[in-house]
Amino acid sequence: MTGKLIVLTGPSGVGKGTLLRSLLQRHPELYFSVSMTTRSPRPGESVGQHYFFVSRSHFEQMAARGELLEWAEFAGNYYGTPRQPVLDQIQQGKSVVLEIELVGARQIRQTYPKALQIFIMPPSIDELERRIRSRAQDSEAAIARRLARAREEINAAKEFDLQVINDDLQAALSAIEAALFAPAQC
Ligand code: 5GP
Repeated sequence: MTGKLIVLTGPSGVGKGTLLRSLLQRHPELYFSVSMTTRSPRPGESVGQHYFFVSRSHFEQMAARGELLEWAEFAGNYYGTPRQPVLDQIQQGKSVVLEIELVGARQIRQTYPKALQIFIMPPSIDELERRIRSRAQDSEAAIARRLARAREEINAAKEFDLQVINDDLQAALSAIEAALFAPAQC
């Protein structure tokens, strides 16, 4: 039996990382796809665990060779999903989680319509801005770009199979688990 492809999308600062960490801790059988990015590592991020950090030319070569399942430019950097590891895991019956932004999620919808697409919503835009600022790792210009993109993404939330509001972590986690582990519909 092949595994499921699960897409988690939501605006920057919505808390996808925390949700994902809890989800993976509770379900070690899930495979998290580590993305390639051209942005610099943030403090505490490590190679191969959070991202593979690569140059723009390296990234562009991978994209040109068709080695990315999807990719997008976000806030001035490239982000993409290495194709082969994801296909291998699904083939072996493992469910794979992609944590990606809207443009990439739309590409997956085209190429892999069976994927379960989940959108994580902030309780409000004001709360999202507070969270992005409290991270205090981005410049004012980067914060503004991330907020503009967040509004665009939230407007597209209804394209997804499921919308989950990340107000209470446990409640959000339960909603995701219910969708992931629901018995298959015949
Ligand atoms: P951050 O710089 O905050 O880690 O990520 C910025 C955005 O890029 C987030 O919305 C994150 O979900 C998205 N992202 C991370 N990896 C990928 C990827 O492989 N493909 C796409 N399309 N987006 C990604």
